[in-house]
Amino acid sequence: MAFLREAGVDLGDIDAGVFTTGVALANWHERHTCCPRCGSETTVAEGGWVRACEVDGSEHHPAPSLPSSWRSPMMKIGCC
Ligand SMILES: [Zn+2]
Repeated sequence: MAFLREAGVDLGDIDAGVFTTGVALANWHERHTCCPRCGSETTVAEGGWVRACEVDGSEHHPAPSLPSSWRSPMMKIGCC
């Protein structure tokens, strides 16, 4: 994150937005490798904007982070 803050100072508005989106997507993929429905591993789809589960056919999209107090107990169960 320190790198993003350092690099963002020298970027224009559009480049900073693209860079921030790329970092956010990369972090999301790194942390969401399993299907929240069945626990199977997911694969990258739709050019990186979706993770797909081949077991149950579900698709998962990045979403803004919720405060931990808003998450249900089911969301805290580990997978894979
Ligand atoms: Zn699944």
